[in-house]
Amino acid sequence: MILETVNVGPMQVNCYILACAEGRQAVIIDPGDQAHKIKAVLDKYKLTPGMIINTHGHYDHIGSDDEFGVGVYVHKQDLVMLEDARKNLSASFAVPYKVKSGIKTLEDGEIIKLDCLELEVLHLPGHTPGGIGLLMKKPQTGIVFTGDTLFYHGVGRYDLPGGSQQMLGKSIRGKLFILPEETKVYPGHGPATTIGKEKNNNPFIG
Ligand SMILES: [Zn+2]
Ligand SMILES: [Zn+2]
Repeated sequence: MILETVNVGPMQVNCYILACAEGRQAVIIDPGDQAHKIKAVLDKYKLTPGMIINTHGHYDHIGSDDEFGVGVYVHKQDLVMLEDARKNLSASFAVPYKVKSGIKTLEDGEIIKLDCLELEVLHLPGHTPGGIGLLMKKPQTGIVFTGDTLFYHGVGRYDLPGGSQQMLGKSIRGKLFILPEETKVYPGHGPATTIGKEKNNNPFIG
């Protein structure tokens, strides 16, 4: 399996590229900016874009969604953010932007399949209403992508529109901290960590 991290844009978003092997189709998680850097990694492994998944609707995670000619997946509660430059905050913090590609909405518990890959959608409200995690079921287990919900020794902001500290805590404790401690965490910003490390050391979630 191929799993590559590409750090993109001024907000240093982690864009993740997933594929079963060289020459196959790729899942692109959060292509927020700098599509050329993402395309260089696709080219390196001779991958073709298969689908885009946005962990949530903030502009720094969705900014290059239209650069790959494939459909975009997002949780149904963050759909409005992809369609509205004010709601995705690009109108306030960057160049106003909305996604024009075809969008498919996701729900909690849904399994996203591409080639040999299977990812389970974990609805994690708190940073945004429709924030999600992606728990890998195939071809490997023990990997979760957490977007801006859980970081290395940190959690996502809950003071932005649609955010909720209470919901964020509930999402992390109820949906992420129940995973095996060795589960590798790939967050939306910053270094990777594990569920065990964050359970024991995260200063924001006692
Ligand atoms: Zn965010
Ligand atoms: Zn972010």
